[in-house]
Amino acid sequence: MVDMIADYYEALPDQPRVSPDVQPGFLRGAVPPRAPEQPESFDAVMADVRDKLMPGVVHWQSPSFFAYFPSNYSFPAALADMWSSVLGMVGFSWAAGPVSTELEMAMMDWMADLCGLPQAFKCNGGGGPGGGVIQGTTSEAVVVALLAARARSLAGRPPADKLKLVAYSSDQAHSCFKKACMIVGIDHVRLLPASPQHDWALQPQALQAAIEADVAAGLIPCFVMATIGTTSSCAVDPVAQLAAAAAGSGAWFHVDAAYAGSAALLPEQRHHFCGLEAVDSYSFNPHKWLLTNFDCCCLWVADSAPLKEALSLTPVFLRAAGNSLDYKDWQIPLGRRFRSLKLYFLLRMYGAEFIRAYLRHHIALAAAFAQRVDADPRFELAAPQRFGLVCFRLRDVPREVNAALLAQLNAGGRLFLIHTELAGAYTLRLAVGSASTQLQHVTAAWEAVAAAADVVLEAHAE
Ligand code: PLP
Repeated sequence: MVDMIADYYEALPDQPRVSPDVQPGFLRGAVPPRAPEQPESFDAVMADVRDKLMPGVVHWQSPSFFAYFPSNYSFPAALADMWSSVLGMVGFSWAAGPVSTELEMAMMDWMADLCGLPQAFKCNGGGGPGGGVIQGTTSEAVVVALLAARARSLAGRPPADKLKLVAYSSDQAHSCFKKACMIVGIDHVRLLPASPQHDWALQPQALQAAIEADVAAGLIPCFVMATIGTTSSCAVDPVAQLAAAAAGSGAWFHVDAAYAGSAALLPEQRHHFCGLEAVDSYSFNPHKWLLTNFDCCCLWVADSAPLKEALSLTPVFLRAAGNSLDYKDWQIPLGRRFRSLKLYFLLRMYGAEFIRAYLRHHIALAAAFAQRVDADPRFELAAPQRFGLVCFRLRDVPREVNAALLAQLNAGGRLFLIHTELAGAYTLRLAVGSASTQLQHVTAAWEAVAAAADVVLEAHAE
């Protein structure tokens, strides 16, 4: 298997297609309808992996994978995954996995320091009630933060007040915000408009006005979520000003930096992360851009008490003083993986200096692509290039022409991009982030874009 993995990675740049040419149901009939009664050989299984399963794979680690946001990979983190799978330790409490609990605390502190996060977020040495925990995904982290927010808002209030709770974010927030509200049962959800005039960032005045209107109507502000690096355009909400606008409302303030959070390792990008001292919780996914194989979402809280209040079945007041940390009280499931081992292997085997260089390399590649877009009068940048993302489109054409451009690009299979909508305009997104992406791949992507533009513009002119 390890040989096969090494061969796969070596051949990855030469894969004829990044996304497969298959249709829904392609596997029906290829997989037997029932599980075998008798064991089969490893070779037989692997032959089917090669012949039947691999044709349905999207090669997310391909250097020409530019879709969504990256979910990249590294050998150190993969090795750690192998080891944690073999240990099979389910460290839901300190006693069930002392090392997984304590390494997670240490890694969350390492990561907090690497990202320049407030000391209050640290497990050890923060000097307060804060701390960090690894969740599977940002979607889970947002649900957990919202549950803590709800517990805090409802403390000392009649249970019926839960119908009055309000959550706020921008209309550029990831859909996991709305989903978290659905799951937690928050009926009043404000998706405040963010506009191109403000570069798609949520404006503090809009938040303040919405909170004031809700309070005047007898509702209870419960949760505000800002985003650093929105999915559509990598917009950065002004966290410090938004937190100031929400101050005094009692609402919990969460910051989602799912993709862009990795950039906080770079001092020159830190200005995007101002204001985190004023927030209740912050999360980002090393499993997106930080070479940590899926899944790994780091969530920090300035005060873990509301989290435990919401998620612990052992009342906090019954705990012995100095009790150890039980991560089951910081998450939704009971069971949990030994995910911190991935960060430990990654950070020790690569070191922070290499990782910073690697992040800078991706940002420079995105800038190189953005320059090519900017220099071609047929195109426009739909948002400023930030981090590894470039949003662009053909200018002054009906949306169908940009849709045809994307279809033409992806049809060949040599690269893979997706689109978004910005102010109703069809916009292509190129996200640089695969571990093996180099200038030659970005240059080839630009050449493919320019050639596809020739085709679709000619067809449009006819
Ligand atoms: N938040 C943002 C800004 C994202 O871009 C994404 C996914 O791309 C998510 C949240 C969802 O992340 P997850 O899959 O970890 O739930």
